[in-house]
Amino acid sequence: MHELHEKCGVFGAFGQNLEAARTVHRGLWALQHRGQEGSGIVSADGSGMFVHKGTGLVSHVFSEADVARLPGHLAIGHNRYSTSGGSLSTHVQPVFNGDNVLALAHNGNLPDTTSLQIFLREHGISTNGRNDSELMHLALTHFMVKGATLPQAMERCWPLFKGVFSLLLMTNNELVAVRDQCGVRPLALGHLANGYVVASETCALATVNATDIREVQPGEMVVIDERGLRVQQLAPPTPRLDVFEFVYFARWDSIIAGQRVYLVRKRLGQELAREVSIEADVVIPVPESGIPAANGFGQALGLPVDNGFTKNHYIHRTFIRPDQSTRETGVALKLNPVPELFDGQRVVIIDDSIVRGTTSRWLVNAARKLGARKVHLLVSSPPVRYPDFYGIDTPDQSNLLAAGRSIDEMQDFIGADSLRFLSLEGMLRAVGVPREQLCLSCFTGEYPVDIGARRADIKQIECR
Ligand code: 5GP
Ligand code: MG
Repeated sequence: MHELHEKCGVFGAFGQNLEAARTVHRGLWALQHRGQEGSGIVSADGSGMFVHKGTGLVSHVFSEADVARLPGHLAIGHNRYSTSGGSLSTHVQPVFNGDNVLALAHNGNLPDTTSLQIFLREHGISTNGRNDSELMHLALTHFMVKGATLPQAMERCWPLFKGVFSLLLMTNNELVAVRDQCGVRPLALGHLANGYVVASETCALATVNATDIREVQPGEMVVIDERGLRVQQLAPPTPRLDVFEFVYFARWDSIIAGQRVYLVRKRLGQELAREVSIEADVVIPVPESGIPAANGFGQALGLPVDNGFTKNHYIHRTFIRPDQSTRETGVALKLNPVPELFDGQRVVIIDDSIVRGTTSRWLVNAARKLGARKVHLLVSSPPVRYPDFYGIDTPDQSNLLAAGRSIDEMQDFIGADSLRFLSLEGMLRAVGVPREQLCLSCFTGEYPVDIGARRADIKQIECR
């Protein structure tokens, strides 16, 4: 199957007299960081369903008039990130085929869809060229056209959906939110004066002035319709939230698993300060994601923190062809130094993670060229040695800098005077969620949700 790595944002709204599409549109703005390659909204007014979607940023896809053409008190939306080439536009979500039966928005990934595909083919449904989200849509629709309600169809499909999903589903008159049994991706429920919203992150609840009620629980289905809200636990929860949401992915004003992301990231920096001793004059974060950890680190050690790199917020990966040479130009387009902050200084650069090493190699080199006397690189998470199969875009294992390299070898590649990563234990202390309730797969190679045939794509690595 054509493989897609998605890291996405979803937002849904239901309310009496609510301009639902407008609310969803604002929610998608707040979730732009979760996906920049495509965006879409499906709305419904009880008699029909309406759709608008396209490639690019939310601001690019939707004009005021586009939003106005999506009537109704019920809507779901999706921001998509994908690394797959080809016909990207055909995979922009919500999945909806215009038949007014079902629209679906998915954050997550089903690593192995074999059993789902077998089920569909056994029922005479072609699965050719369908991605995981579209296969789920086909299966749900299969039960619904045979007379099942959406919640009933979801119950029937539950055993077939093996993988990671924070799902928003809607018909003409109801909104359904479902989270896989492990709850690897977040999903939050909020209250409006005249209805409810569901969002990947609480930052989007704040944006639409909704009050945060609670998270959709792992294994739980929440059904919202004109009778109100009711919940059904489809399977006992076995929480395994992806720790990478805290490390990099989520917006820092969100609350996930009861933890404010900014404060977690700041504690990651404080833990680094406990583990590392370095003589330095200044701490410089890699914006945006390295900022809270740099603040935590600098405050803990009484070192000045200065914004030595500027991030251009108008550059998005959408516009950068994903091969290595353009990736390096991409860093230069995205991050630029303030030269005076480096000259003659012993600098500590702090980033949240190293994936391929492109960013840190470029930044360390830039610091040296500007006359830094020493350039140390600190990373506020452990080495990423394993790819993600649960909805974050990480490259093949062979392209991960930390896969098969010692810290010394990585330090040589990056060209830093020293390179240190936060320990797994330090990260866990900072996160404050019990280890057994987290997914640590990128760091440990332990995949709590079965990855099926994808197991062949990874090799276990001795930590050297
Ligand atoms: P590298 O240059 O090592 O490949 O990537 C490291 C940088 O990418 C870090 O600054 C980190 O904040 C960011 N990063 C970490 N995970 C992801 C991801 O899943 N997607 C994207 N686009 N960036 C990431
Ligand atoms: Mg970053």
